[in-house]
Amino acid sequence: MLSYQHAYHAGNFADVHKHLTLYIVTDYLLRKKSAITYVDTHAGRGLYPLDAHETQRLQEYREGIWPLWQARAALEDSLLLTWLEAVAAAQISATGLTHYPGSPWWLGHSLREQDQLRLFELHPGEHKQLSAQALLPNAQRVFGDGLAGLAAMLPVVTPRLCVLIDPSYERKGEYQDVGDTVAYTLEKARHAVVLIWYPLLPAGHHHILLDALKESGLRKIWRSELRLQEPGEQSHGMFGSGMLVINPPWGLDKQLAGAMADVTPLLGATSRYQADWWVGE
Ligand code: SAM
Repeated sequence: MLSYQHAYHAGNFADVHKHLTLYIVTDYLLRKKSAITYVDTHAGRGLYPLDAHETQRLQEYREGIWPLWQARAALEDSLLLTWLEAVAAAQISATGLTHYPGSPWWLGHSLREQDQLRLFELHPGEHKQLSAQALLPNAQRVFGDGLAGLAAMLPVVTPRLCVLIDPSYERKGEYQDVGDTVAYTLEKARHAVVLIWYPLLPAGHHHILLDALKESGLRKIWRSELRLQEPGEQSHGMFGSGMLVINPPWGLDKQLAGAMADVTPLLGATSRYQADWWVGE
């Protein structure tokens, strides 16, 4: 039984970190003409109205997209500004920030005629909402398990493959499941670019995923982490967001570091960004 719904968290600091990374990766991939299959294993609803009752309950976007949006006018020409212009393009009307675009929007937006996009979602309500979104015909929405669905698609027919894995980690076993699926994916598609999001929790469960990937023999894994604060002794909640990029495009490290140097101070005095090679280089 799935209880997680991303609408409660839409536009938070983790979404900003994840979608900015995704934007840089896809922007790079689009420089070549050869076709790409994109797979979003945990798609969610696609587009999130910020006035939805779920989103209003926690208002996490106020510590995420909101301060960046507010700072827009003062920003110099930069990657962050370009990304915020893309957020502006996702708005339904011209009355400011009313919607936050999820990963199906970010991937669907960069889709060309020769590319394919497959969006998996296992929650019936979320899948129904995703199905109601206007997307290009080469974006396919599948009601089903994203990790099994990805494995069943391999190898893909296009020369290139880009995968986003963004689970809700409601089960601790998901960290290992992600590690196993990624190892299998890279066995079948050696040059696939795979992005994985994980939460930083005081319990440190993400080390299960990090260790599994290190042991699986992958050659290049870039890790970046954004912390809103350091965890207190009594805290249980998510204090940071992590992204792994397997086979990262050349220059991702510098571009992301530059964008995050603009983002981090806008998220509060205690926020910190750090990045390194988890495997390779
Ligand atoms: N990727 C989305 C974005 O960036 O906008 C957010 C995804 S949210 C963190 C995780 C989603 O995965 C939820 O909508 C949840 O219903 C869905 N989910 C959970 N387990 C799944 C599974 N095994 N296969 C596919 N989707 C799943």
